[in-house]
Amino acid sequence: MGVGVVLLFMPFLGMSYGMTRQVMLSLMLALIVSGLNLNLGYAGELAMGHIAMYAAGAYTAGLISKAGVTEIWIQLLAGALVALGVGLISGIPGLRLGGWSLAMTSFFLILLVPDILSIFKESTGGRNGLTGIVPPTLFGQLMSEKQYYLLVVVVTIVWFACMRNIVVSRHGTALRVLKQSPVLASSVGISVFRMKLTAYALGSLPAGLAGVLFANLDMYISPEAFTFTVAMTVLAASVFGGSASIYGALIGAAVLQFGMNQATNFQEYGLIITGLFLLSGGVLFSGGIAGLGQNLVRKLDKLARERVGSQLVPAATAEVAPIQGARLMVESISKSFGGNQALSQVSVEAKPGAVTAIIGPNGSGKTTLLNMISGYYSTDEGSIALDTEEIHGLSSYRVARAGVSRTFQTPNIPEKLSVIEAVEAGRYATERVSILQAILRTPKFKRIRREDRLEAERVLNLVGLGEQRDSDADALPLGNRRLLEVARSLIGAPKVILLDEVASGLDEDELDVLADLVNRLRDAGLTVVIVEHNFQLVLRLADEIYVLAQGTVMAHGTPAEIERNPRVMEEYLGVINDADGSNLIGAGND
Ligand code: ADP
Ligand code: MG
Repeated sequence: MGVGVVLLFMPFLGMSYGMTRQVMLSLMLALIVSGLNLNLGYAGELAMGHIAMYAAGAYTAGLISKAGVTEIWIQLLAGALVALGVGLISGIPGLRLGGWSLAMTSFFLILLVPDILSIFKESTGGRNGLTGIVPPTLFGQLMSEKQYYLLVVVVTIVWFACMRNIVVSRHGTALRVLKQSPVLASSVGISVFRMKLTAYALGSLPAGLAGVLFANLDMYISPEAFTFTVAMTVLAASVFGGSASIYGALIGAAVLQFGMNQATNFQEYGLIITGLFLLSGGVLFSGGIAGLGQNLVRKLDKLARERVGSQLVPAATAEVAPIQGARLMVESISKSFGGNQALSQVSVEAKPGAVTAIIGPNGSGKTTLLNMISGYYSTDEGSIALDTEEIHGLSSYRVARAGVSRTFQTPNIPEKLSVIEAVEAGRYATERVSILQAILRTPKFKRIRREDRLEAERVLNLVGLGEQRDSDADALPLGNRRLLEVARSLIGAPKVILLDEVASGLDEDELDVLADLVNRLRDAGLTVVIVEHNFQLVLRLADEIYVLAQGTVMAHGTPAEIERNPRVMEEYLGVINDADGSNLIGAGND
């Protein structure tokens, strides 16, 4: 904010036009970089088409200006919309195809810009550029240079405020979760495709706005301004300022803009200079040199996040309210990976208000079974239902939204989130709040935001991590990471939770907290499925046990029945002893 105010008054403090022009250019660059950051830094998708969107905004403004629409607000709106259109047209196929396609599509888009302009050279002027743009007006009044400068600053401030509001909302958290892992994202109900498309489409808006502002700056645009070199400059500024950052774009853009200006022969050496920035940015951010700018940016970002988090929240209690569990019915599902039959004809039933344990030696198919239930793999045959609703065949984020949440055998914890934020990620699919509501900070957004915090504190207290709420989530020790996952799986009001070996790596105290929690969840009515190596714990917690061996259910029954089953005891004991020789069995004799 302070920086914004200073920028606003700069021309009135006797700054030369050359200088104001540089500031305006760096703000426009910052807008484009900020759009890229939404993809690269937050969604984790390398998409560089923002130069094409910038061009789209610029040519839209230029052409409608020549047609007599000089009103700058109308131009900004039109430019943003056309850029959004370009984003959607290139983003949908690019993202549908997955993998590196978006990077390729958007790369191609940049190379296409001069050709498209040439094809329509009647109106765009082709390589000679578009001349005859009329000076912009604001509410019918011709804008002075100072007014235009103010407009550029205001547009930038407004966009960065929007960007900040998005990033600190649950959508921002969702983007980081997605960057960490699409599997994790879909496990909390995030549609990977839609989220990536949203980031790409949103990122096109500031690029389009920058294009409009650029077109009205010199009243002349040509394909020169939208080349591959410029795209590299944007990428370098993003990396230099920190891609996963709100305000890094401003710093990265300023450094590159003023840096380029110092270089006399920029036309010739632009790419080399950009490359140097890219490299030095890379070094700074791999943690080699603690860059001053980087620390400043981190502080600013952190401040923005804390502001939102520090709303008054009443102290949360660690209570488990009654839960409406659902009956999970898995009927004769099979799955093979190539020639390896991981599951064959497996049927499992898990009832509400009961703990169903799945045990078996390593490689017997326990995790695969959970992955099938969560919708990560399609089944070769069989059915999976939640009460009467068939969930088999749904994509994983839909299974999550239907009420199945889970933890991962290897905890999946997003980077650069605090513990409480990582847990809140699990609320993504509960009562929805749109990005527009997040940008405008509507009362509904604020209410849900408060509820997210309150719920996160409640479940953190449930798993005994209340004190760690502000620590870095990815810095937690293994036991705590598992408990964090349990908290995340509980926060979205699930009907069924699937816990994959959550007890391994926990110390005695943590085990007690976990066992007590599982009991309380069962008593509250939740359907709890645990995959567990610790036989003692299973006997203590389970109402029903399924024993898997080589992808088939070799036995199932109550703990007492399983303990009395000589075949299970023998085989299980044998295999477990082979595997790690630990004291996992014989608990019944204690
Ligand atoms: P468990 O969790 O009981 O230790 P898993 O379900 O992880 O066992 O694995 C069961 C079998 O399926 C193993 O032979 C494993 O190698 C195989 N498997 C699991 N996931 C995959 C996969 N994505 N691709 C190929 N094989 C897999
Ligand atoms: Mg496993």
